[in-house]
Amino acid sequence: MNTTPKRVILKSGRTAALGRRHPWVFSGAIERVESGIEPGDTVLVSDSAGNVLATGHYSDGSIAVKVLDFQKALPDAAFWSGRLRSAFSLRQHLGLTQNPATNAYRLVHAEGDGLPGLIVDIYGAAAVLQFHSLGMRREREVLVGCLKELYGPKLETIFDKSDSTLDGGKAEFIVGSEHGAEILENNLRYKVDWVSGQKTGFFLDQRNNRALLQGLAQGRAVLNAFSYSGGFSVAALAGGALSVDSVDESKGALALAGQNIERNFPGAQHRETAADCFQYLRDIRGKYDLIVLDPPAFAKHRKDIDAGLRGYREINRLAFEQIRPGGLVFTFSCSQMISRQDFREVVFSAAAQSGREVRITHQLCQGPDHPVSVYHPEGEYLKGLVLEVG
Ligand code: SAH
Repeated sequence: MNTTPKRVILKSGRTAALGRRHPWVFSGAIERVESGIEPGDTVLVSDSAGNVLATGHYSDGSIAVKVLDFQKALPDAAFWSGRLRSAFSLRQHLGLTQNPATNAYRLVHAEGDGLPGLIVDIYGAAAVLQFHSLGMRREREVLVGCLKELYGPKLETIFDKSDSTLDGGKAEFIVGSEHGAEILENNLRYKVDWVSGQKTGFFLDQRNNRALLQGLAQGRAVLNAFSYSGGFSVAALAGGALSVDSVDESKGALALAGQNIERNFPGAQHRETAADCFQYLRDIRGKYDLIVLDPPAFAKHRKDIDAGLRGYREINRLAFEQIRPGGLVFTFSCSQMISRQDFREVVFSAAAQSGREVRITHQLCQGPDHPVSVYHPEGEYLKGLVLEVG
């Protein structure tokens, strides 16, 4: 940047969060912004005495600045390539970058990788980018350059899927034109369509939880509620499930689920049902001894928390009421707005309402390629429990 950076000045007494390295500045903490600052600008954040505390991307939302660094200097090319290399090196250490059993992983998990506003998912020879802030969108060229440097010609497709995450954002190819690919996860094959699929095409955050389910599915009749493209369904069959029913309200998702089953286990006992899962769960008493509940985020905003908690309570109560004795419920919440403790409490109250004996056997979270900065606990969004229902 060749112009003098503009400043955002905090109210006195409102610098503590930055002192704790929390990467967000809320609009309420701001005393004033220098004239001419536009959403998307890279700014300096200073205290009322003029000391620079951080640099970040400015926006006109309630999170006014997403912090990039706690330095005085604005990020340069070395900053971006350093952050990308560090993200790659973590996935290398996790054994994901050259893994014969798994070739799909999250390379950049926003704040968890010091890159707020950016998601990068790798699907074999493709990278799918999602921008969640205008400021990060403006860095696209330098970020794409870093990706090319990291992966070289192995990276055949780079797709930007920001139409649903950013005002005025687009879905467009930056390199190549492939719409999808078959990926490998824990030695199981899945078709991912990043152009027409949900999010970036696949829910990579559940990889380890699918592997866990695979180990517990032997001989069970499985219901995969909110199945999307059948991630848990394929894993259940790989683990020796007797039968699997995938239920989702999206016919497109179910078609993908059917294809994914065929790819791995042609002719398996699998049924796809297009239905509302709340309705479906009301009438299945005694049919299943393993139920997966992986709904979309029921609380996307603070104002939705109460309704979201009611939704989680109801869906879990139905599962507890209906499951066979000795059954397992894999239950999840991916709502960032709902804490692990609040989720546990609604699951406990659902258990109490059902009157069943319910025990926790496993406590689950997002996979390690979705790291959480300790300074940004909000990054821990996926919560899960495995419950044995007596
Ligand atoms: N478990 C999946 C991801 C689930 S995403 C995986 O591992 O890949 C949530 C899914 O819930 C989406 O596919 C969405 O279409 C579906 N969905 C949302 N609300 C629903 C409802 N009320 N009934 C059924 N499906 C629903």
